[in-house]
Amino acid sequence: MKVLITGGAGFIGSHLAERLLERGDEVYIQDDLSTGAMENIQHIKDHPNFHYFLDSITNYQRTAELVDLCDIIYHLAASVGVRLIVESPVKTIETNIRGTEIVLSLAAKKRKRVLLTSTSEVYGKRDQVPFREDDDLVLGPTSKGRWSYACSKAIDEFLAIAYWKEKRVPTVIVRLFNTVGPRQTGRYGMVIPNFARQALEGHDITVYGDGSQSRCFTHVSDAVGAIIAIAEHPEALGEVYNIGSNTEVTILELAERIKHLANSNSRIVFMPYEEAYEEGFEDMMRRVPDISKINRAVGYAPEISLDEILMSVIKDQRARLTGGSGVPAPLAFKA
Ligand code: UDP
Repeated sequence: MKVLITGGAGFIGSHLAERLLERGDEVYIQDDLSTGAMENIQHIKDHPNFHYFLDSITNYQRTAELVDLCDIIYHLAASVGVRLIVESPVKTIETNIRGTEIVLSLAAKKRKRVLLTSTSEVYGKRDQVPFREDDDLVLGPTSKGRWSYACSKAIDEFLAIAYWKEKRVPTVIVRLFNTVGPRQTGRYGMVIPNFARQALEGHDITVYGDGSQSRCFTHVSDAVGAIIAIAEHPEALGEVYNIGSNTEVTILELAERIKHLANSNSRIVFMPYEEAYEEGFEDMMRRVPDISKINRAVGYAPEISLDEILMSVIKDQRARLTGGSGVPAPLAFKA
C-alpha cells in the first residue's frame, strides 16, 4: 500500500510511519516541522520505502500530488498541545480547519480513504465519564482560547462525516485520548515528558491546580495499532472511535510515580492554572474514554501499563539529556 501521513514527522505520525514501514508499506509523509521534528524521523529517513516532504499541507499543489499517489491518507497534521493553543490561537484554528478542508477535498476527487485524527478535547468539560462517541460535547465560551482547539477539531469531524455522507469519500475518525511515549516533547505542555524531565534534572515538578484532576494515558504503540486497524476496517466508514486507555490516574499521583521511577529528589510543587496558562483557564477534571466501540470493531484493548509508559518516557528523556537524541537506532531495512 502507498500511504500518506500528514504530520508524519510529529510524535504520533513518526511512530505510525515506522509501523507501516515495518509491515512493508510505502510511506510518504508531509510535515512543515511546525511541531514535528527531523529527529523524529532520523532513523527511518533513509529507508527505501520512506519519502518525506517538508512542506505544509496548505501547499495545495504538493498535497494534491501526494494524495493522488497514495491509497490512504492518515491526516494527523494539526496544531496540538494546550500551551500552543493558548499562545497561538489563530494558527491553531487556521491550520486545523484549512488543512483538513484541503485534504478532504483532494481525497474526494478520487475517493481516497482518509483517517482523520481528532481528539478527546472535543468532549470539552463534560463531567460524566466515561465519554462515548455519541455523547454531547460541552464546550466553553469563545472568549476562552483553549476551546478553539476542541471546536476546530469538531468542525473537522463534521466535515469528514459530511464528505462521507454527501460525496461518499471513505472517512474514518478517531478521537485520541492522552497519548504518550518516546519522542513526545514537553515543549507544548504535555504533562508526562514535562514531569520526567523535571524529575531527571532535579527541578521542581510542577503540578497545575491541586493535582486532583485525572487523565488516562495510552502508549503511542497501542494507539498506532488501533489507528491502523480501524483505518482499514470495512465497517468504520463515517464512524467516530475513541482510542485511549481506561486506567485513570490523578496528576498528583502521576508526579509522585514519576519522581519515584526516576529516582529523583525533586520537590513536587503546585502552580495555579492562571500562572501556568492564562487568566480564567479551565481544565478538565476527568477524561476517561469508553473504548467499547473500537473494541467491538477491531478487538482493541491497550496492552502497555502506566508504569511501562512512564519508564519508556523517562528513558527517552534521559537519553535526550545525556546528549542522545532519544530516538531509536535506525530501523533495520528489509532488502
Ligand atoms: N499538567 C501539569 N503540569 C504540567 C503539564 C500539565 O500539572 O507541567 C496538567 C494539566 O493541567 C492537565 C494534565 O496535566 O490537567 C494533562 O495535561 P496535558 O497538557 O498533558 O494534556 P491535556 O490537558 O490535553 O489532557
